[in-house]
Amino acid sequence: MKPLIAGNWKMNGSLAANEALVKAMLDGLGGQTAATDMALCVPAPYLSQLQSLLTGSTIAWGAQDLSSHEQGAYTGEVSATMLKDFACRYAIVGHSERRQYHGETDALVADKAKVALAHGITPIVCVGETLAEREAGQTEVVVKRQLAAVIHAVAHCTSEIVVAYEPVWAIGTGKTASPEQAQQVHAVLRAQLAAATQHPERVHILYGGSMNAANAASLLAQPDIDGGLIGGASLKAADFLQIVASSR
Ligand code: PEP
Repeated sequence: MKPLIAGNWKMNGSLAANEALVKAMLDGLGGQTAATDMALCVPAPYLSQLQSLLTGSTIAWGAQDLSSHEQGAYTGEVSATMLKDFACRYAIVGHSERRQYHGETDALVADKAKVALAHGITPIVCVGETLAEREAGQTEVVVKRQLAAVIHAVAHCTSEIVVAYEPVWAIGTGKTASPEQAQQVHAVLRAQLAAATQHPERVHILYGGSMNAANAASLLAQPDIDGGLIGGASLKAADFLQIVASSR
Protein backbone atom coordinates (compact mmCIF):
# COMPACT_ATOMS: atom_id res chain seq x y z
CA MET A 1 0.00 0.00 0.00
CA LYS A 2 1.34 3.41 -0.94
CA PRO A 3 1.46 5.96 1.88
CA LEU A 4 -1.11 8.76 1.75
CA ILE A 5 -0.20 12.34 2.59
CA ALA A 6 -3.27 14.57 2.77
CA GLY A 7 -3.23 18.30 3.37
CA ASN A 8 -5.95 20.03 5.36
CA TRP A 9 -5.90 23.70 4.49
CA LYS A 10 -8.59 24.44 7.08
CA MET A 11 -10.14 27.92 6.55
CA ASN A 12 -7.15 29.35 4.70
CA GLY A 13 -6.54 30.41 1.14
CA SER A 14 -7.55 32.75 -1.65
CA LEU A 15 -7.73 32.25 -5.39
CA ALA A 16 -4.32 33.86 -5.84
CA ALA A 17 -2.61 32.13 -2.92
CA ASN A 18 -4.05 28.72 -3.84
CA GLU A 19 -2.83 28.99 -7.40
CA ALA A 20 0.69 29.89 -6.30
CA LEU A 21 0.75 27.11 -3.68
CA VAL A 22 -0.57 24.38 -5.95
CA LYS A 23 1.71 25.40 -8.82
CA ALA A 24 4.70 25.33 -6.49
CA MET A 25 3.73 21.84 -5.36
CA LEU A 26 3.29 20.59 -8.92
CA ASP A 27 6.58 22.19 -9.99
CA GLY A 28 8.32 20.57 -7.03
CA LEU A 29 6.93 17.17 -7.95
CA GLY A 30 8.15 17.71 -11.50
CA GLY A 31 5.78 15.17 -13.04
CA GLN A 32 7.48 12.27 -11.25
CA THR A 33 5.42 9.12 -10.84
CA ALA A 34 4.06 9.23 -7.37
CA ALA A 35 5.29 6.65 -4.87
CA THR A 36 2.96 8.33 -2.41
CA ASP A 37 -0.73 9.09 -2.77
CA MET A 38 -1.37 12.79 -2.19
CA ALA A 39 -4.47 14.86 -1.60
CA LEU A 40 -5.41 18.41 -0.68
CA CYS A 41 -8.58 18.99 1.35
CA VAL A 42 -9.62 22.57 0.76
CA PRO A 43 -12.46 24.95 1.62
CA ALA A 44 -15.54 24.10 -0.49
CA PRO A 45 -15.54 27.33 -2.55
CA TYR A 46 -12.12 26.41 -3.93
CA LEU A 47 -12.93 22.87 -5.07
CA SER A 48 -13.59 24.03 -8.61
CA GLN A 49 -10.24 25.82 -8.70
CA LEU A 50 -8.42 22.76 -7.34
CA GLN A 51 -10.18 20.58 -9.90
CA SER A 52 -8.86 22.84 -12.68
CA LEU A 53 -5.35 22.99 -11.25
CA LEU A 54 -4.97 19.31 -10.31
CA THR A 55 -6.83 17.37 -13.01
CA GLY A 56 -4.26 15.14 -14.72
CA SER A 57 -1.77 15.49 -11.86
CA THR A 58 -0.84 12.97 -9.17
CA ILE A 59 -2.50 15.04 -6.44
CA ALA A 60 -6.15 14.35 -5.61
CA TRP A 61 -8.43 16.83 -3.89
CA GLY A 62 -11.14 16.68 -1.32
CA ALA A 63 -13.41 18.53 1.08
CA GLN A 64 -13.05 19.15 4.81
CA ASP A 65 -16.59 18.12 5.69
CA LEU A 66 -19.88 17.14 4.08
CA SER A 67 -23.51 17.03 5.05
CA SER A 68 -25.08 13.85 6.34
CA HIS A 69 -28.19 14.83 4.36
CA GLU A 70 -28.72 14.23 0.66
CA GLN A 71 -30.31 17.61 -0.15
CA GLY A 72 -32.88 20.09 1.01
CA ALA A 73 -33.42 22.72 3.70
CA TYR A 74 -30.00 22.61 5.37
CA THR A 75 -28.68 26.13 4.97
CA GLY A 76 -24.94 26.35 4.69
CA GLU A 77 -24.36 22.64 4.19
CA VAL A 78 -22.64 20.99 1.24
CA SER A 79 -23.84 17.60 0.02
CA ALA A 80 -21.87 14.60 -1.21
CA THR A 81 -23.49 14.98 -4.61
CA MET A 82 -22.18 18.54 -4.83
CA LEU A 83 -18.69 17.35 -3.91
CA LYS A 84 -18.92 14.73 -6.63
CA ASP A 85 -19.76 17.48 -9.14
CA PHE A 86 -16.21 18.68 -8.52
CA ALA A 87 -14.71 15.17 -8.64
CA CYS A 88 -13.73 15.14 -4.97
CA ARG A 89 -11.99 11.94 -4.05
CA TYR A 90 -11.88 12.51 -0.29
CA ALA A 91 -13.81 14.25 2.47
CA ILE A 92 -12.51 14.70 5.99
CA VAL A 93 -15.18 13.79 8.55
CA GLY A 94 -15.12 14.29 12.30
CA HIS A 95 -12.15 16.63 12.44
CA SER A 96 -11.70 17.66 16.07
CA GLU A 97 -12.44 21.27 15.12
CA ARG A 98 -15.85 20.13 13.81
CA ARG A 99 -16.45 18.03 16.91
CA GLN A 100 -15.37 20.87 19.21
CA TYR A 101 -16.79 24.00 17.56
CA HIS A 102 -19.79 22.52 15.78
CA GLY A 103 -20.90 19.92 18.30
CA GLU A 104 -20.45 16.98 15.96
CA THR A 105 -21.19 13.71 17.73
CA ASP A 106 -19.83 10.24 17.02
CA ALA A 107 -23.21 9.35 15.50
CA LEU A 108 -23.21 12.33 13.14
CA VAL A 109 -19.62 11.66 12.08
CA ALA A 110 -20.56 8.05 11.38
CA ASP A 111 -23.53 9.17 9.25
CA LYS A 112 -21.25 11.47 7.29
CA ALA A 113 -18.77 8.67 6.64
CA LYS A 114 -21.59 6.45 5.42
CA VAL A 115 -22.99 9.12 3.09
CA ALA A 116 -19.52 9.82 1.67
CA LEU A 117 -18.95 6.15 0.86
CA ALA A 118 -22.40 5.84 -0.69
CA HIS A 119 -21.34 8.56 -3.13
CA GLY A 120 -17.92 7.14 -3.94
CA ILE A 121 -16.05 9.61 -1.74
CA THR A 122 -13.44 8.23 0.64
CA PRO A 123 -14.05 9.58 4.14
CA ILE A 124 -10.95 10.49 6.13
CA VAL A 125 -12.33 9.73 9.57
CA CYS A 126 -10.59 11.69 12.33
CA VAL A 127 -10.34 10.31 15.84
CA GLY A 128 -8.32 11.57 18.76
CA GLU A 129 -8.29 12.34 22.46
CA THR A 130 -8.04 15.68 24.22
CA LEU A 131 -5.21 16.40 26.64
CA ALA A 132 -7.55 15.86 29.61
CA GLU A 133 -8.61 12.48 28.21
CA ARG A 134 -4.99 11.42 27.68
CA GLU A 135 -4.06 12.48 31.19
CA ALA A 136 -7.01 10.52 32.54
CA GLY A 137 -5.75 7.40 30.75
CA GLN A 138 -8.74 7.47 28.41
CA THR A 139 -6.95 7.63 25.05
CA GLU A 140 -7.76 4.11 23.89
CA VAL A 141 -11.34 4.22 25.12
CA VAL A 142 -11.98 7.50 23.31
CA VAL A 143 -10.45 6.63 19.94
CA LYS A 144 -12.05 3.17 19.96
CA ARG A 145 -15.45 4.66 20.75
CA GLN A 146 -15.09 7.19 17.92
CA LEU A 147 -14.00 4.56 15.40
CA ALA A 148 -16.58 2.00 16.57
CA ALA A 149 -19.41 4.37 15.67
CA VAL A 150 -18.09 4.62 12.11
CA ILE A 151 -17.44 0.89 11.76
CA HIS A 152 -20.98 0.19 12.96
CA ALA A 153 -22.42 2.59 10.36
CA VAL A 154 -20.34 1.58 7.33
CA ALA A 155 -20.18 -2.15 8.18
CA HIS A 156 -18.84 -4.16 5.23
CA CYS A 157 -17.31 -1.01 3.69
CA THR A 158 -14.92 -0.54 6.61
CA SER A 159 -11.88 -1.39 4.50
CA GLU A 160 -12.71 1.59 2.24
CA ILE A 161 -12.32 4.30 4.84
CA VAL A 162 -9.18 6.21 5.77
CA VAL A 163 -8.62 6.76 9.49
CA ALA A 164 -6.65 9.71 10.85
CA TYR A 165 -5.40 9.58 14.42
CA GLU A 166 -5.17 13.20 15.50
CA PRO A 167 -4.55 13.78 19.19
CA VAL A 168 -6.39 17.04 19.83
CA TRP A 169 -3.55 18.35 22.00
CA ALA A 170 -1.17 18.05 19.04
CA ILE A 171 -3.26 19.86 16.42
CA GLY A 172 -1.91 23.27 15.54
CA THR A 173 -0.01 23.43 18.83
CA GLY A 174 3.47 22.46 17.66
CA LYS A 175 3.30 19.52 20.11
CA THR A 176 3.61 16.23 18.25
CA ALA A 177 2.89 12.80 19.63
CA SER A 178 6.18 10.92 19.82
CA PRO A 179 6.52 8.21 17.18
CA GLU A 180 6.07 5.62 19.95
CA GLN A 181 2.97 7.31 21.38
CA ALA A 182 1.44 7.53 17.92
CA GLN A 183 2.35 3.95 16.97
CA GLN A 184 0.77 2.65 20.17
CA VAL A 185 -2.58 4.19 19.26
CA HIS A 186 -2.28 3.21 15.59
CA ALA A 187 -1.75 -0.40 16.63
CA VAL A 188 -4.93 -0.25 18.74
CA LEU A 189 -6.86 1.15 15.77
CA ARG A 190 -5.43 -1.49 13.43
CA ALA A 191 -6.53 -4.24 15.82
CA GLN A 192 -9.99 -2.72 15.98
CA LEU A 193 -10.15 -2.63 12.18
CA ALA A 194 -8.95 -6.24 12.03
CA ALA A 195 -11.94 -7.31 14.06
CA ALA A 196 -14.25 -5.50 11.63
CA THR A 197 -12.81 -6.22 8.20
CA GLN A 198 -10.87 -9.01 6.56
CA HIS A 199 -8.45 -6.50 5.10
CA PRO A 200 -7.28 -4.17 7.88
CA GLU A 201 -3.98 -3.74 6.07
CA ARG A 202 -5.83 -1.95 3.25
CA VAL A 203 -6.94 0.86 5.54
CA HIS A 204 -4.63 3.84 5.66
CA ILE A 205 -4.21 5.01 9.23
CA LEU A 206 -2.79 8.53 9.05
CA TYR A 207 -1.18 10.47 11.86
CA GLY A 208 -2.08 14.13 12.21
CA GLY A 209 -1.00 16.77 14.69
CA SER A 210 1.84 19.19 14.00
CA MET A 211 3.48 16.85 11.51
CA ASN A 212 6.14 18.83 9.67
CA ALA A 213 9.19 18.49 7.47
CA ALA A 214 11.43 17.84 10.48
CA ASN A 215 9.43 15.19 12.34
CA ALA A 216 7.64 13.40 9.49
CA ALA A 217 10.26 10.75 8.75
CA SER A 218 10.36 9.31 12.27
CA LEU A 219 6.55 9.22 12.52
CA LEU A 220 6.13 7.70 9.07
CA ALA A 221 8.72 5.03 9.84
CA GLN A 222 6.36 3.43 12.37
CA PRO A 223 4.80 0.19 11.16
CA ASP A 224 1.18 1.25 11.55
CA ILE A 225 1.54 4.86 10.42
CA ASP A 226 0.52 4.82 6.76
CA GLY A 227 0.69 8.51 6.05
CA GLY A 228 -0.19 11.91 7.43
CA LEU A 229 -2.98 14.44 7.66
CA ILE A 230 -1.16 17.74 7.52
CA GLY A 231 -2.60 21.08 8.60
CA GLY A 232 -0.22 24.02 8.88
CA ALA A 233 2.62 22.45 6.91
CA SER A 234 0.32 21.82 3.93
CA LEU A 235 0.18 25.58 3.37
CA LYS A 236 3.87 25.63 2.43
CA ALA A 237 4.80 23.79 -0.75
CA ALA A 238 8.36 22.94 0.33
CA ASP A 239 7.23 21.54 3.69
CA PHE A 240 4.43 19.49 2.18
CA LEU A 241 6.78 18.07 -0.45
CA GLN A 242 9.39 17.27 2.18
CA ILE A 243 6.78 15.30 4.12
CA VAL A 244 5.80 13.48 0.92
CA ALA A 245 9.47 12.68 0.30
CA SER A 246 9.82 11.40 3.88
CA SER A 247 7.00 8.94 3.33
CA ARG A 248 8.82 6.95 0.64
C1 PEP B 1 -5.18 19.07 11.14
O1 PEP B 1 -5.81 20.11 11.16
O2 PEP B 1 -5.72 18.04 10.73
C2 PEP B 1 -3.79 19.09 11.61
C3 PEP B 1 -3.16 17.96 11.78
O3 PEP B 1 -3.24 20.34 11.83
P1 PEP B 1 -1.69 20.68 12.16
O4 PEP B 1 -0.85 19.84 11.23
O5 PEP B 1 -1.57 22.13 11.87
O6 PEP B 1 -1.47 20.33 13.58
